[in-house]
Amino acid sequence: MQQCPPEDSLERRIEAILNADTPPDGWKEALGKLFERYLDQQRLLDRLTHIADRFQAAERERSQGYMASYEKKVRQLEKIVRISDQYQTMLHQLKERLEHASNYDSLTGLPNRRYMTVRLEEAASQAARKNGNGFAVMIADIDHFKAVNDNFGHAAGDRQLKAVARALELSLREYDLCARWGGEEFLFLFPACDQTSAPVVAERLRKNVSAAPRISDNIATPTVSIGYTLHRPGESIDATLLRADEALYKAKDAGRNCAIGM
Ligand code: GH3
Ligand code: MG
Ligand code: MG
Repeated sequence: MQQCPPEDSLERRIEAILNADTPPDGWKEALGKLFERYLDQQRLLDRLTHIADRFQAAERERSQGYMASYEKKVRQLEKIVRISDQYQTMLHQLKERLEHASNYDSLTGLPNRRYMTVRLEEAASQAARKNGNGFAVMIADIDHFKAVNDNFGHAAGDRQLKAVARALELSLREYDLCARWGGEEFLFLFPACDQTSAPVVAERLRKNVSAAPRISDNIATPTVSIGYTLHRPGESIDATLLRADEALYKAKDAGRNCAIGM
């Protein structure tokens, strides 16, 4: 039997064993060493695999952590955008309500004195221009309105006011304007209304109020006295209003429930 030189490297001894026809001495020891080496390498490989697995898991956790914090930030941003949108809508609605409240009367829903004043000034400056359109101004005042409050209470008075406002509103054409001028007075702006049409329009207003449905069986249908005038191009709105007021006083003096022009 051949001998494997012990000082030879394990590779050479294994090679010698494989080339020999019969197994040389020391083949078992060489095979044992080879097996040990195999086991060592297997253990090393296991450790490397374990380290690589842990490294990969750590990387995965880290990127998932980034992803989670990124998604959280996106959700926070979306929430901020939503709140900001709601805030903008709220501000917009508030602005619209304020604008409406400053231009409309809360009881009757009609435009108020402020709004009408602006429109009157606009109409006056338009009329002052060459070939500008003339317009008529009318004041309607409820007759003996105080008696409604005194006899039936302020709430009944309010209902009466609303009913008169509706009747007047229903008498208007598209471009006519009616405002609650104060207390139980209503002011009208009738564009393109001349000497011929003004008395007709005033009479229509008066009739429509007196034909309005009663607010209650025991409260008489209200009537209005009307003063009207045509704006004279170049004059101030105050001058026009003063004339309409004078006409109204005349209508009251004439016994009420009538329309007088000046
Ligand atoms: P005239 O025929 O001369 O116009 O008599 P009148 O009673 O209508 O006029 P007067 O100016 O003496 O009285 C107007 C009343 O309108 C007095 C006031 O208390 C009442 N009034 C004004 N604004 C309101 C309101 O918003 N609601 C109610 N209920 N009454 C109001
Ligand atoms: Mg009055
Ligand atoms: Mg009155």
